[in-house]
Amino acid sequence: MRNFDYTELEAELAKRPKIVITTHRGPDGDAMGSSLALHQVLLAQNYDVKVVVPNSYPKFLHWLPKNEDVLEYEGNETLADALITAADLIFCLDFNDLRRTDMMCDALEASTAKKVMIDHHQEPKDFADFTFSVPSVCSTCQLIFEFIEMMSWTAFLNVDIAKCIYTGMVTDTGSFRFSSVDKRTHEIAARLIDLGLQQAEVHQTLFDTNKESRLKLLGYCLSEKLEVLPEYHTAIMSLTRDELERFDFVKGDTEGFVNYALSIEGVVFTAFFVKYDDKVKISFRSINQFRANLLSKEHYSGGGHINASGGMFEGSMEDAIAKFKKVLPDYKEELIANC
Ligand code: 5GP
Ligand code: MN
Repeated sequence: MRNFDYTELEAELAKRPKIVITTHRGPDGDAMGSSLALHQVLLAQNYDVKVVVPNSYPKFLHWLPKNEDVLEYEGNETLADALITAADLIFCLDFNDLRRTDMMCDALEASTAKKVMIDHHQEPKDFADFTFSVPSVCSTCQLIFEFIEMMSWTAFLNVDIAKCIYTGMVTDTGSFRFSSVDKRTHEIAARLIDLGLQQAEVHQTLFDTNKESRLKLLGYCLSEKLEVLPEYHTAIMSLTRDELERFDFVKGDTEGFVNYALSIEGVVFTAFFVKYDDKVKISFRSINQFRANLLSKEHYSGGGHINASGGMFEGSMEDAIAKFKKVLPDYKEELIANC
């Protein structure tokens, strides 16, 4: 665990800085949950705080308390740039490298604000003045809870903040089933329930508000687009633009699809390819010690965690998949070892 001197951060906060909270491009449940939890804890202390995220995020996260405060950088560049320029302190949540903020990266790099990174991705870059990075922890939301405790801010917790923290913990752990979940994760969940959290309700809101078209897209993907490569204990799926459009795709619809292939007996690694504009976005998932993030980093300009990573391919779907099949044999030994 890299740690920092809380008294120094307390000294910064005592100056009543203008604060911006930001997260990675394509914010997920952990990114939005951690940002909005911290936002509300700071608001409760009357800080001047804004949440600026690089671009849009799935509709199934729009119910989160204080979602209406979030500014998307993409499409609001002038206003967002002004907020970033004016900021004295920037919290960077759920990412380990400024490049993960993509369209916001230049503005963040140019900013003279002190930066605080709170994150759980491996190999954090050294861009922040304060780095709180614990890669073994399941979610940034779990770290936000720890941070709130360390700062002695627990009196500001409430049920809305509990909903945000729980959202990140439940979405980053496949509903508390990945090996990254530890005793502390459950202890924190219990603390959130003590705050009045109705956990079944949050779960339902996140996962049981499917549209018919999304469910049919999943059905199509599993029945028509799943390919198992038994020799490599790997399964792949893909969706082209045409296929997405056939099922009235909106952002967030394919969230979680990649995990279905991982539930096949004997499969330890899955890749899910989705076409976006001129790029293919790939999600990788694995079990045991197979390094999904290594393959992603070596071949798809990506990264992430051992068991959950992602990357990009500039080109056609066919080429993205052909490349995958070409490089997979290099990982055969590791795939078999993790069976
Ligand atoms: P997802 O498949 O849900 O988009 O991403 C899973 C995880 O992989 C994310 O939590 C993030 O850690 C990582 N990840 C996804 N896309 C990228 C990427 O383009 N670059 C890097 N470095 N990590 C990514
Ligand atoms: Mn996360």
